[in-house]
Amino acid sequence: MTRTEKLLRELVALPSVNPAFLPARSPRAGEQRVADFLAATAARAGLDVEFQKVAPGRSNLLARLSPSGKVRQRILLAPHMDTVNAADNQFTPSKRNGRLFGRGACDTKGSVATMMTALCELAEAGHRPAETEIVFVGLVDEEHKQAGSRALAASGLKADLAIVGEPTRLEVVTAHKGTLWLELETRGKSAHGSWPELGRNAIHAMARIVDLLQTAYSARLRRRRHWLLGCGTVSVGAICGGSQANIVPDRCSILIDRRTLPGETEAGVRRELVGLLRRKHLKVACVKRNFPPCYPLETDPKLPLVARFLRSVGQRQPVGVRYFCDASVLAHGGIPSMVFGPGDIAQAHTADEWISVAALERGRMLLRGFLESFS
Ligand SMILES: [Zn+2]
Repeated sequence: MTRTEKLLRELVALPSVNPAFLPARSPRAGEQRVADFLAATAARAGLDVEFQKVAPGRSNLLARLSPSGKVRQRILLAPHMDTVNAADNQFTPSKRNGRLFGRGACDTKGSVATMMTALCELAEAGHRPAETEIVFVGLVDEEHKQAGSRALAASGLKADLAIVGEPTRLEVVTAHKGTLWLELETRGKSAHGSWPELGRNAIHAMARIVDLLQTAYSARLRRRRHWLLGCGTVSVGAICGGSQANIVPDRCSILIDRRTLPGETEAGVRRELVGLLRRKHLKVACVKRNFPPCYPLETDPKLPLVARFLRSVGQRQPVGVRYFCDASVLAHGGIPSMVFGPGDIAQAHTADEWISVAALERGRMLLRGFLESFS
C-alpha cells in the first residue's frame, strides 16, 4: 500500500462531518480529530505546525516547509478537512477494483492525503525550496459557510498562489461559478374560496414567475457565455404558499439558486430579475438568502505561478467547474487561487463515494514535481 493511500484510509476512519449537518455534540462532528492527526504527521516529517482557531473546537491547520533562504514567495496547498454526513459503513475505508471507498475519499480527504504526502516527502528528502515557503493549510467548514477559508483570508496571510484541493480529475481549474440564493415573494389578497374573484391569488402570480424563470430568464442567461464556464443558470429549489383549499392565498414564496458568472454581481442579478418581472407586470419582493457571499472565481491563467503549474502538470489550457469552493474566498482575500485534486465531483457526497488509488498517486507525483522545482 502506498503512503498516500495509507494516509487516506486513516483520514476516512476519522469522522470530520461538518457540525452544521449533525445534531449538537454528535461524536462525528468537527474537524479537530483530523487536524490533530495531520499535525502529528506533519511534525514527524519536520514541518512547522500551527493552528489557527476559527470557532470553538475548530481550527485550520497550517504546516510549513520554510525555505533555506529568505521567504520571497509563498504557495498554499489548501484542501478542506470537513465532509458531509454519511452512513456508518462509510467511515470504514474499503478497497475494490483499485477504488478506495469511504466518506471524504473524493471530497476531499483524497486531496488532503495527496498534498500532505507530497509536502512531507519533500521535507524528508531535504528538498528545502530556496526562497519559497510552502504551506499546507487544512481548512474547516468548506461544506457549509467556508468559515476556515474566510478566517484565513481575513488573517492577512500573504501568498502568491493557493492550490485549493477539490476533486478536479487532476485538471487545473482557474474559474468556477458563484452561488446566489434568492427568495422571491408574491403578495396577494385573501378571500373566500367560493369568491376567488374578490381576492388576488399569490400562488397564481408565483406560477407565472416560475414559468418566466424557466423560459424567458433562462433563455437570457443562455445568451451570455464565459469561455471556461459556459452560461449562468437558475433553478427553483423550493416553493411555499397557501394554507388550505378554501382560502385564496395572499402569500407565496420561492427559493431560487442562481449560479453566477465572473462579472455578475448580486445587485446586478437582482436588478435584472426584478426588471424582467416588472415588464411582465409581475410584482415581487426579492430577499437575499445566502450569507456570507459566494462569488465566482476567475484567476488569470497567465499569472507566472499559474502558468508554471499548468506547464508542470502538462496541461495547455485551464478548465472551469460549476461548483463553488474555498478558492474564490481566498481569491477575494487577495491570494491568486486555483483548484486541483484527484477524484471526480460526480462521486462527491454520494452514498458510495470513492476515489481511484492510481489518481491519488498521480496527484502526489504531479504536486511533488511542481514543488520540487522551487528547490
Ligand atoms: Zn469539497
